[in-house]
Amino acid sequence: MSPVSVAVIGGGLAGPEAAYQLARRGLEVELYEMRPRVSTPAHRTASLGELVCSNSLKSETPHTAPWLLKEELRRGGSLLLECAARAAVPGGQALTVDRERFSAGIEAALAAEPRVRLRRQEVTSLPLDRITVLATGPLTSTPLAEDLARVTGRSSLAFYDAISPIVEADSIDHERVYAASRYGKGGDDYLNCPLDRDEYARFCAALTAAESYPLRDFEQPQYFEACLPIEELVRRGIETLRFGPMKPVGLPDPRTGRVPHAVVQLRRENVRSDSYNLVGFQNHLRFAAQAEVLRLIPGLEHARFLRYGQVHRNSYLQAPVVLTPALQLRARRTVLVAGQLCGTEGYVEAIATGYLAGAFAAALARGATPIPPPRATALGSLLHYMINAAPDAYAPANITFDLLPPLPTPEPDRARRHQAQCEIALAAAGTWLPPIT
Ligand SMILES: Cc1cc2nc3c(=O)[nH]c(=O)nc-3n(C[C@H](O)[C@H](O)[C@H](O)COP(=O)(O)OP(=O)(O)OC[C@H]3O[C@@H](n4cnc5c(N)ncnc54)[C@H](O)[C@@H]3O)c2cc1C
Repeated sequence: MSPVSVAVIGGGLAGPEAAYQLARRGLEVELYEMRPRVSTPAHRTASLGELVCSNSLKSETPHTAPWLLKEELRRGGSLLLECAARAAVPGGQALTVDRERFSAGIEAALAAEPRVRLRRQEVTSLPLDRITVLATGPLTSTPLAEDLARVTGRSSLAFYDAISPIVEADSIDHERVYAASRYGKGGDDYLNCPLDRDEYARFCAALTAAESYPLRDFEQPQYFEACLPIEELVRRGIETLRFGPMKPVGLPDPRTGRVPHAVVQLRRENVRSDSYNLVGFQNHLRFAAQAEVLRLIPGLEHARFLRYGQVHRNSYLQAPVVLTPALQLRARRTVLVAGQLCGTEGYVEAIATGYLAGAFAAALARGATPIPPPRATALGSLLHYMINAAPDAYAPANITFDLLPPLPTPEPDRARRHQAQCEIALAAAGTWLPPIT
């Protein structure tokens, strides 16, 4: 009997990793890539594994979160991380690669794999006849995106990302902020940074002068009025922010009994521990400018940012609503989603979900039940975030320590805490990852 054939759509970062993991587990794979016949606005070549922007796969400093995710993948026999190691160029503390050698390595490895056949064609609808890994990325071609939106429900597929910055809880000055929900409704999940008239004026002036990233043609945003970037709001007039995301009404400062001139609300992240989101503060400022401007907010003078605000073209699913813990579409369980489209952000996160989707699809193709990685691992924590985050405000995530479970015994020293989290994660990964063959 010939082995079951699985389709993998998308030859970026997630797709080739998924294809390789399927082949490694004995499955026949057809890998579909539409380039060079049809391209995306960001890709420049026909190569598999093209890095569309920077050539950095982030930090290699031991006991950092990006290192941990890579380390788990390396221990699990990830093809793309092996290719990255072979294509590495000096890059300080980061894993930086020669992008052409990286792609050439992936293409050579898949060409040498008899179970993988590469088909250079655009797929325009979700296959119905077999198990499929969908890894078509943030710039999924329009016909396929339309079909996906039809299957999952239009409101489950975002086309633009407007994401707010996230700060580490222990970098907030708790002497300056106060806990309160608007009109006392909504629990104790909010901290408030009060601004007086002068502080507000200074903040607006700095925001107006701050430099934004230039938008490429394909990124020209069609903003929803409800999620305009703050630099766009301030351009509409000095008072606009005070009647929008910096609205102070219903938020008296318990220390003075008075309502401040303006307020920035920080909302505790539901699934991430130890971090707060700046509510309604999506923006497109350069990261350095963003750090400078946001640190003018009382209480955030020394904020450490886990994520900066961003606005860019990005198709991704509302993972907590539409995906199962094995990355299957709830509406069509033969389709598994990987890469940026499944609601992660970043090259290594795309490789990681490609790895997981490959492993899960292989189990399903054999009639077995996919087993997710332990929650203590970086792989498991990324997956846990995707499936359990609050659906309404869902934003794609990078791996950071606040996605990992806290230690059973709190450790105040950051370096020791992170080292302990990494040791626990790698021990747990060892129980789940298949042996490298
Ligand atoms: C402009 C831009 C810059 C980015 N810069 C960075 C960065 O510097 N660092 C970082 O970590 N992350 C970056 N990202 C985010 C993300 O990590 C990358 O987009 C990453 O490439 C995602 O991997 P992926 O496999 O999900 O998608 P991709 O790498 O985009 O791969 C998807 C593949 O599917 C193909 N495809 C699409 N539709 C179809 C179809 N219908 N049929 C067949 N093939 C199809 C595409 O041609 C593409 O090859 C960036 C994203 C964008 C959009």
